[in-house]
Amino acid sequence: MSLRCDGAQVLTVEHLMAAFYATGVDNVRVELDGPEIPVFDGSSRMFLHLIDEAGIKNLAAFQSTLVVRRPVRVASSMGDRYVLVEPADTFEVDYSIDFDHALVGKQRVTLEVTEESFRNELSSARTFCFLKDVEAMRSRGLALGGSLDSAVVIGEDGFLSNPRMKDEFVRHKALDAIGDLALIGFRLRGRVVAACAGHALHAELVRALLKDHAAWSIETGAPHTSGFGYAGASA
Ligand SMILES: [Zn+2]
Repeated sequence: MSLRCDGAQVLTVEHLMAAFYATGVDNVRVELDGPEIPVFDGSSRMFLHLIDEAGIKNLAAFQSTLVVRRPVRVASSMGDRYVLVEPADTFEVDYSIDFDHALVGKQRVTLEVTEESFRNELSSARTFCFLKDVEAMRSRGLALGGSLDSAVVIGEDGFLSNPRMKDEFVRHKALDAIGDLALIGFRLRGRVVAACAGHALHAELVRALLKDHAAWSIETGAPHTSGFGYAGASA
């Protein structure tokens, strides 16, 4: 997912945005010396580490939540891939994938998105790609930004880099969805159900949701006044 503003562009924001969302960070300055957020290991793990190291400061400001009031759904033109958001008491993700590949196949993850569940269940899940796609990109002269250290690469008969867990693929998809939906700009209360979706559909859902004003309302909570000063190491 890339962001564009006034002619500037930043690529691959989703793993960082997911880490910000999960830790409740909604006011932050990110400085870059290149056009892309570093990939690191292809997951959100390093970003959580950096956030923990920098510490989080509670501000005397209201945090607003977008509360989903009725379902909004977007789908691929064939209708076989979709993502929707519907009313729920918390922010939940129900993600499923179905790849025609013996090493991936059908996978599903369902969870309530909290800082704890994100840290424990999703944050270490890495990007994945298929070797045939990497080879096709290379033959078109496109260098792969990452390496075997920054993605799970899936060959015809085996992994070129081993997954950290059996269902790492769908967990990474859920991580991506959280990072992409963080672009809504509010905390989210609703259930996201996705099937074989990806960044394009996640982004389409964000646009469709924000456009449909009858599908949500904004709730503003009490300001965070529990503490001022850095929770972690000094800044
Ligand atoms: Zn990703």
